[in-house]
Amino acid sequence: MINRKKILMVNLPFSGHTNPTLGLARTFVDLGHEVTYVHAPDWKSKVEETGAIFIPYDDYSPDLSPSQKEIKSWGAAYNTVKRIGKNYDCLIYEMLFLPGKSLADEVGIPSFRLFSTFTINENVLLNFGKTGGWYMTCIFRYPHLCHLLSKILQKKFHLRYDSIAMEMVYNAPSINFTYTIKEFQIYADEFDDVRYKYVGPSLSTREANSTFDFSMIKAPLIYISLGTLLNTSVSFFRKCIEAFENQSVSVIISIGSIVKMKDLGKIPDNIFIYTYVPQLEVLQRASLFITHGGMNSVNESIFYGVPMLAIPVGNDQPAVARQIERLHLGRYLSRKHLNPKILSTAAMEILADESYKKKLQEFQLKMYKTGGNSEIVQKILESLNEGR
Ligand code: UDP
Repeated sequence: MINRKKILMVNLPFSGHTNPTLGLARTFVDLGHEVTYVHAPDWKSKVEETGAIFIPYDDYSPDLSPSQKEIKSWGAAYNTVKRIGKNYDCLIYEMLFLPGKSLADEVGIPSFRLFSTFTINENVLLNFGKTGGWYMTCIFRYPHLCHLLSKILQKKFHLRYDSIAMEMVYNAPSINFTYTIKEFQIYADEFDDVRYKYVGPSLSTREANSTFDFSMIKAPLIYISLGTLLNTSVSFFRKCIEAFENQSVSVIISIGSIVKMKDLGKIPDNIFIYTYVPQLEVLQRASLFITHGGMNSVNESIFYGVPMLAIPVGNDQPAVARQIERLHLGRYLSRKHLNPKILSTAAMEILADESYKKKLQEFQLKMYKTGGNSEIVQKILESLNEGR
């Protein structure tokens, strides 16, 4: 007879931050525990597929624009957890939900944090701030701006610190889980092994029913994606098409939901464009992944041993891309001077160089040894049972 726990999870409406955590909900449910997941209404069916109980954010109007929805999501998630939190054995939150630890303390339950990007400390945040462009992370480049915003957030969310960086770094739960391997983490030796656990990627069975058609694909296959968030560059996708149109390769490009197929011009016969693909399945056939350096995509590529050409857009992606190059898992190309010639030359060089594959095999073996979401469940249950 299991000691059934009531687990509360909360997240923000960003795919990269949510996708890996769905497998965690499912793993708890499969073991007989009750999981309630607080998320934006659009995520209802994905959450319910895991067997978790879905609770939409309180006071979150469907009439808001997409960017208003993103901004409002922190407050709406916060209010919902504050209302129901005391009925649960613990709160599990992803790092982007800044008030997670303070809020769990306020409602009086233990908390655990998940990182779908690198584990964060001051050096990591500075690195993101300096190199991550004009996106969310730019606040860490401007101390004055960061200070102003921190003050507002501290008041709104009752944070322990009047600094976003200090809240993230020093108001940390006793156990934090990162969805990669320690060997890929930047500043890895600055994190203690008791508090920070590396569990590898969360792949679960999300593409179990895929019927993707590979019949027209001839090896070698190059897969191209800029992920789901910063993926709006028509000119990037056009350069990719020009780079590979006369090459003896097949190319699958996932363009996302913003860029329109009609804006990409004539599509050559060896290039196949989709708004979304079953990425895990595509990676299992790919010889090269041209990626934006999103942490989930990169973990998945390492898991399947696919060399990468990383062309980052912003936020943590430049740091991830540099790490790919430093560890010889692929190469880093800047978007600044990118043209079809540079792109095709770099791609062909990687395809011809076996040393990337060799290095990836080493990392693959390390990933195979990680416990993923099962390890997280085990550690959380141990901690909860010890705490009683
Ligand atoms: N993804 C997918 N199919 C696509 C594009 C993306 O399955 O056509 C998945 C991909 O496998 C990864 C996630 O979406 O798990 C993207 O996360 P990542 O951290 O790489 O990038 P983000 O979208 O957060 O920028």
